[in-house]
Parts: sequence; C-alpha cells; structure tokens
Amino acid sequence: MQDLNKLFALQKASTNKLKKRSVADRILQLKHLEQLIILYQPAIETAILADFRKPPVETMLTEIVSVISELRHTIKNLKDWTKPKKVGQTLALLGTSGYIYKEPKGVALIIAPWNYPFNLAMNPLISALAAGCAIVVKPSELSPATSALLAKLLAEFAPTDEVAVVEGGVEVSQALLALPFDHIFFTGSPAIGKVVMHAAANHLASVTLELGGKSPAIIDETADLQDAAEKLVWGKFVNAGQTCIAPDYALVKQEVKPLFIEAMKQQIEKCYNADKQGIAKSDSFSRVINDRHFSRLATLLQEATSQGATLAIGGETEAATRYIAPTVLTEVKTSMRIMEEEIFGPILPILTYQNSEEALQLIANLPKPLAFYIFSRDNEKINKYIAHSTAGGTCVNDCLIHIAHPDLPFGGVNNSGIGRSHGEAGFLEFCNQRSVLKQRIGFTGIKLLYPPYTDKVRNLAKIFLNWV
Ligand code: NAD
Repeated sequence: MQDLNKLFALQKASTNKLKKRSVADRILQLKHLEQLIILYQPAIETAILADFRKPPVETMLTEIVSVISELRHTIKNLKDWTKPKKVGQTLALLGTSGYIYKEPKGVALIIAPWNYPFNLAMNPLISALAAGCAIVVKPSELSPATSALLAKLLAEFAPTDEVAVVEGGVEVSQALLALPFDHIFFTGSPAIGKVVMHAAANHLASVTLELGGKSPAIIDETADLQDAAEKLVWGKFVNAGQTCIAPDYALVKQEVKPLFIEAMKQQIEKCYNADKQGIAKSDSFSRVINDRHFSRLATLLQEATSQGATLAIGGETEAATRYIAPTVLTEVKTSMRIMEEEIFGPILPILTYQNSEEALQLIANLPKPLAFYIFSRDNEKINKYIAHSTAGGTCVNDCLIHIAHPDLPFGGVNNSGIGRSHGEAGFLEFCNQRSVLKQRIGFTGIKLLYPPYTDKVRNLAKIFLNWV
C-alpha cells in the first residue's frame, strides 16, 4: 500500500498554496480538466465497457456528458460563487456589514462507487477543485479498469500534492478514513455510509454522504401509461438498474395495472430487442457488475417467485455472463426481501394500491428515499403526493433526469444521504462558509450596553428587546 501518511502530509502542506490560488487560475485548471476528459473519451468508454459491458453510448451520455456539463456550469459560475456574499442589515448591529466568505475546507477525501465509476468520482472532484481543496480520490475496486484510468488521467492532470488517486479496496478505504481529512465525500451504500460517518467522527470531519435506498415510482389512474412506461423502462434498465436513483419499485393504481404492464412489455422489446435476436444479444443493455451482485439479485428474484410473486416480464438469468433480463414482477408483497432492500439491478416489482393514502403509507413505512417519481396528470394529486411524503429529490412525469439540472442540489435525506452535490450546492460542501462582520471604529450602539449595568443600560436593553 502507498504511504498514505506521507501523501496526506504532502497534501496538507499544499492547502495554503491552494487557498491563495486565484479564481482565474482555478478556472484555467478546470478548463484543462475539460480538455483532458475530451481527449480521454474513447479510453473512458473502453474502460467502463470492460468493467460491466456498459454500452459506449450510455457511457457518453451518463458519464461523460454529465461531467462535462458540471465542468462547464462550474467554469461559468465560479467567479460568482466565490465572491463574498453580503448579507442584509440588522437594526441591533446598525453600522456593521456582514459577509459570507467561502474558503476551502482543506484536504478532501472522495470515496466513489463502481456503478457510475467515472461520473461519481469526477463530479465531486470538480466541486472540490472549484473550492480550492487538495483532494484524494479513492475509486471503487469493483470497477478496476475505470479505477486505473482515473489514476492515469488525474496523474496527468495535477501534481499529487493537489490531486491524488489511491486505488484499492476496503482496507485502503479504511486506512484513508483513519486520516484527519477536513471533508469526506462518500458515495455508496447506506451501510458503508455509517462506517464512513463513524470514522469521520474521530476527527470531526464534515461529511457528504450520497447514499441509496428504495426509490418508489407511483403511477396513478390519470397517468399517461404509454409515456410512463417509456420513461420507466429507460430509468429502470439504464446501467442494468444499477443506478442510485433508479425507480426501485412501482406503485400502480389497481385498475391500470394490465395496461401499464403491456406498455412496459412493448417498450422493453422496442429498446432492447428491436432486431428480435434476444435481449441477451443487445448492445444496448449492460451486465451486472460482478458474481456476488449477480447471485444476490438471482436469489432475490428466486425467493420472491417462490413466495408467490409472478414474472410478468423477463426473469431469464445467465451466471456466466452476469446477464439478468429486464424483469417485471407482480403479486409482490411488502414482506418479501425484494421489498426490504435496495434492488440495484434490472428487476422492477410492481405493487398495486386502491387509494393514494395506502400508497403513501407504504412509502412512509420504508426509510426515506433518494428519489420519488410521480406519474400523473392530476396537479392536485401531484401536490398531495409531494406534500405527504419526503425524498431527496422528486421528478414529476419522468425519472432520473432531475439529477441533470445543474441548479437543483442533488442528495438524499437521512438513510438516503446527508448533504448535497452538483453546482453551487456541491461547491459549498467543500467550502467553509465563514461569517465575517465588519464593525466601524469609534462610537457604536453596542458600546452603550457595556457595564456597569445602570438603569440607563437596562432601559436601553428594553428598547433593544423590541428592536431585534
Ligand atoms: P459500497 O458502499 O459498497 O462502496 C462504496 C465505496 O466504499 C467503494 O469505494 C468501496 O471500496 C468503499 N468501501 C466498501 N466497504 C467499505 C468499508 N467497510 N469501509 C470503508 N470503505 C468501504 O457501494 P457500491 O456497491 O460501490 O455502490 C452501490 C451503492 O451506492 C448503492 O446503495 C447505491 O444506491 C449507492 N449510490 C448512491 C449514489 C448517490 O449519488 N446517492 C450514487 C451511486 C451509488
């Protein structure tokens, strides 16, 4: 293992230099990163294809376009974000002026998952660079080709006292977590999120935890079923369902279930079996990341069907290639394990409901989700679903795409995450928002309140009580 103490000391020593780096120079650095990513585009596509047979076009859309968009948005707005923000006057502190300065937190650790292995390492990196932090990136060991590529690309991008990639598995991650980082940005499962937060507590490091969970999609009786099926098929089966904000399960109003399933069936065929060669032969469908996750998913599926769930669509699996067909399950019960843990694979359980209270209660019985999707034409109902639930983010009449809006902070709530990423919100996670109050010299209103506490001071304090 690399000497991590030495690396950390090196980065710590560079924090002063980085703090003083002008905004113009940070922007130049981000532009340099943009050029490198464009140069590396074919290599990124090849690496992720090797890791889990992700279609190159899907890599371009969900890994490269999204990172370039984050970069360009940051480059365009960084000057504005870094400016000290003047706050309003308050009568009690008349004559003063208050500002919020944004200073880099210092040395940041980014721990990335394997499922969008380029995007989820690079997006927080962009925010941390914009803030002026020194950064250690720990990619996932489960996507080794992308991990090696990140190490190469970032070594070319910046010296190790500014940006370093440390490759490795759990033991490397834990060795890094033992170091006194100023901020830890973790993307992964809620279970490991707790391990990270424990470790951060030892140094009182701040954390951003981008976690997962079971994100529901509700399809009510007013929804456009064809439109909803088109969007849900893409949202569920892109990346073979290995997406943190994939609709985990669908809640469908009882009477529209048959039509909805039929629309899903047709859409799956259209997307993944257009040439009628079988979905396993499709170049547009990814594989499960590794054997452990394949057998976890195959077991979830087998358990559910043996307990009475029905395969409405798909269900085929092939261990040798880690292929699981796009699958839709019906007759699913909340007591089944598939409804208790995050699925993170191409299996969509459909549950039906009679009234919206029942659907909302079912969602509320599970930990707070990262995303909640609503398919409906009825604005009153849409507002009710939002008001009577909670989630990190919500998308109405679509899924996943809320992540792509640069001005919408992205993140979870409790079990699905703490803190926000993307755009200005992501930049602020890596900043200490320092409050600065500037006072005048000489007479100030506060001086009238200094001891000794005479009746005059008491009367003035009473006036203050009304003012503040
Ligand atoms: P994971 O939690 O298993 O691993 C994530 C990272 O943590 C990896 O780099 C891994 O090396 C490290 N790690 C694993 N075990 C560790 C331990 N005991 N101590 C310290 N570090 C450890 O997650 P994963 O399987 O890579 O990703 C899937 C999960 O991530 C899903 O739950 C998914 O919903 C979530 N996710 C969330 C987001 C988001 O933005 N909110 C995005 C992608 C994935």
